Amino acid sequence: MANEIAERFFPEVLGQDNAVQTLTAALTAGRAPHAYLFTGPAGVGKKTTARAWAKALLCVSPTSVGIPCAACSACKKVNAHSHPDLLWVDFEFQAALLKEPLDKQKSLKIATVREMERLLRLKPLEGRVKVAVLTPADLVGDDASHALLKILEEPPPGTHIVLISDEAGALLATIRSRCQRVRFRPLALEVVSDIVAREHGNRPAAEVDRAARAADGSVERARALLEENTVLAFDWATCPLSELLTWCEGFQNPRVGRTGAERFLEALLAQFQLDVRAGDRSADDLDRALLALTRIRQNANVGLTLQHLLLHIRRNARKHGG
Ligand SMILES: [Zn+2]
Repeated sequence: MANEIAERFFPEVLGQDNAVQTLTAALTAGRAPHAYLFTGPAGVGKKTTARAWAKALLCVSPTSVGIPCAACSACKKVNAHSHPDLLWVDFEFQAALLKEPLDKQKSLKIATVREMERLLRLKPLEGRVKVAVLTPADLVGDDASHALLKILEEPPPGTHIVLISDEAGALLATIRSRCQRVRFRPLALEVVSDIVAREHGNRPAAEVDRAARAADGSVERARALLEENTVLAFDWATCPLSELLTWCEGFQNPRVGRTGAERFLEALLAQFQLDVRAGDRSADDLDRALLALTRIRQNANVGLTLQHLLLHIRRNARKHGG
């Protein structure tokens, strides 16, 4: 019974029964705490759960026991990331606030925490309360931690804050003690498989299964593995030029981004070493690939660095291959 109710409160959260039961109990008792700390490995549903939690607090036509309707304008806006009373305080929020590139954001700064506080102190625009989700909470800088602690000590009335962290140990003990902790566990293999299979319906089942098995209960990891496979399988050497350029630009996307490019170049280097030894490739290609990897590790523009490298190698191949 408890499970059924929890499922109706949090239908989009899969495989985190303990967490959703804790949250459901708080909602049905009418005692939603001011601050939660969601902890657990990356990619197991903490953000999805925070969004569902916000929906439960913001829904304008819940059932008599408070289950969000999923159909009102508030529920729809939460789903569409556009509810004005739900603040999502993350690197994207900070990049927009500070007018800086997204990939330069390494920690959450005091200006960001102060902006969160300012917004929380405004009256709700559409709901009865305001909700802020701050992530990654383990990357809140030192000064910012103290500002955050102050907010948690005296939360503006009618506000609910969720801190999300993959590394709870990195948070100030005083911050941890101000929040109710909800622990998330690695997901069961079947849950990871189901989620990624649904998202990647066009991929062979065996490939999805391999990624799910290697993902240690993290959907994020399974997705990254599938994306990496796509990256490594791309035929950069002979595809049309426009396809190559679009493919390189794809690495500007933060999800594939720098790590994806590094994986690709590592695989490319391994291949080039074999080619050079076999006399099928000039050592110059190998040097250039190594240089590109170094530059990307030193924060050079990922898309442009890859474009320069691959275009050069393609030209070289035409010259030598005749
Ligand atoms: Zn609703």
